[in-house]
Amino acid sequence: MKIGFIGLGIMGKPMSRNLLKAGYELVVFDRNISSINEIVSCGAKAGQSGADVAAQSDVVITMLPNSPHVKQAVMGENGILEGAKEGLILVDMSSIAPLASQEICKACAEKGVKMIDAPVSGGEPKAIDGSLSIMVGGDKEVFDQMYDMLMVMGGSVVHCGDIGAGNTTKLANQVIVALNIAAVSEAFMLSTKAGVDPEKVFHAIRGGLAGSTVMDAKVPMITAGNFTPGFKIDLHIKDLGNALETGHGVGAPLPLTSFVMEMMQNLHMDGYGQSDHSALVKYYEKLTGTEIRK
Ligand code: NAD
Repeated sequence: MKIGFIGLGIMGKPMSRNLLKAGYELVVFDRNISSINEIVSCGAKAGQSGADVAAQSDVVITMLPNSPHVKQAVMGENGILEGAKEGLILVDMSSIAPLASQEICKACAEKGVKMIDAPVSGGEPKAIDGSLSIMVGGDKEVFDQMYDMLMVMGGSVVHCGDIGAGNTTKLANQVIVALNIAAVSEAFMLSTKAGVDPEKVFHAIRGGLAGSTVMDAKVPMITAGNFTPGFKIDLHIKDLGNALETGHGVGAPLPLTSFVMEMMQNLHMDGYGQSDHSALVKYYEKLTGTEIRK
């Protein structure tokens, strides 16, 4: 099975490396030529465009920022659908709006291309060690065909429903992560202002009910003042925007999400859009003039 891989960013690079290590033949493309060269040096072949990648592949994976990027890469000029042969399978692993997945899937079907949406959770560390949580929407038969390949990149691969269900599940994930980082930031500012060492608070509570994967991953970054992404504030703003739009569409109010969205917008205006989302703590640091550091 020949795989095309489009989108070699923070996530796409380690994911494509794992596919190469597992023995898959890969042809790769990105807007950034240096990213292509990096993965070519690991054994992949360079593609010239989405159409060129599709023409050489049985399966094409996309790992791009948001809905407009995926639409352009699939349906745009020199895009995947221009080069795809009938029967090609598109596995979009980007986090995009569920309605966009449905729209792209429809355009694919008109060209005889099958599509599943398969966004991921776990960030760069889990992309590197191949243990991402992968949530999939689309035809169950196509899911079954893609399962082994997805398990090369993931520790769990779950079929959630029809096309778009993967991205709906991912939006739920992103709401929980954003609110969790906000809660951790607020609580650690409280204990810091009250004079208790944040490292002591972390070690005291991480094993109890308040403990979480978010707390384990983000508190060490916060106390070290290390906001290297990871997952960028601007990408989380994109996800919360998609969550709010989807929530409004289906009649699910998201009051806490909209509050954290405004906190992130504020940080974006302050120049932290490219920082890790753990920089949410800076919202509280600005309010109090106090840093949470070891
Ligand atoms: P990134 O910005 O690091 O990478 C995106 C890549 O896509 C870049 O290399 C860019 O050059 C390329 N690109 C953009 N438009 C293109 C086009 N039309 N054709 C070809 N290449 C194009 O982003 P990332 O962090 O790797 O995230 C990718 C997706 O995965 C996003 O939807 C994000 O929300 C999701 N995600 C990221 C993380 C994380 O921790 N970084 C975790 C889970 C999910």
